[in-house]
Amino acid sequence: MLLKKGDTGPAVERLQTALAKQGLYIYRVDGDFGQKTEDALKAYQQKLGVKPDGILGDYVAGKLGLVSVPAGAPANTKPVIVLTAGHSLIDPGACNGKFTEAGIVREVRNGVTAILNSRGYKVINDGTGTDNQPLGKAAALVKQGKIAIEFHLNAATSKSATGVEALAQSKDKAICQKLCSALANVLDIPVRGGNGGWKDEGSGQHSKLAYVSAGGIILELFFISNDAELKKYFERKDQVFTAIADVLTEAFN
Ligand SMILES: [Zn+2]
Repeated sequence: MLLKKGDTGPAVERLQTALAKQGLYIYRVDGDFGQKTEDALKAYQQKLGVKPDGILGDYVAGKLGLVSVPAGAPANTKPVIVLTAGHSLIDPGACNGKFTEAGIVREVRNGVTAILNSRGYKVINDGTGTDNQPLGKAAALVKQGKIAIEFHLNAATSKSATGVEALAQSKDKAICQKLCSALANVLDIPVRGGNGGWKDEGSGQHSKLAYVSAGGIILELFFISNDAELKKYFERKDQVFTAIADVLTEAFN
């Protein structure tokens, strides 16, 4: 879904109604995307912490509950996707200043889930909102999906360590490479290692292997310890969510 200033019609009416429910659009619902609608949308984007460009994309549409299922669409035959957040409420993972790995990967889990829901996918999570169940519970969900991804951030003592990588069994090598390439593009960071970002299950930290052994993918989105990468994530997070959702949508449509 993509709506911007100048657009008209029922989709704009639904957007205006949704923004009105948020208390941000106090004018007549007329299906005409003008300045007042743009201002209201920008205010909502700001509230979500994404770039306030006044253009409605999939992530914000999902958050507003604007599900775009065409009339007369067949029953949902899309595969179930499992998305989980690394670490837990009592284990923050790596940190940089006030930011924790667990906090950021929960946000990624929720953001990608909102987009996939808006595209008609059923997504199973290890908790909603700020909930984040521990690894054992997350690993137990892996088999419930056609694909399962657990989000993590990398960290290193060297502030300059950089890039994206994914840890998985060889069956998931191709999708790992696509995910890494898409994230490298959006964040303008390198893909790590000689395998397009994919690393086989034996090469990761021992504590994460339960998820991979169960058949899931550990996606190390970027380095939280790298200040520039962290900053780019905050500037582009809606694009990060969309990039991941796009790879999954293309692979499992
Ligand atoms: Zn981690």
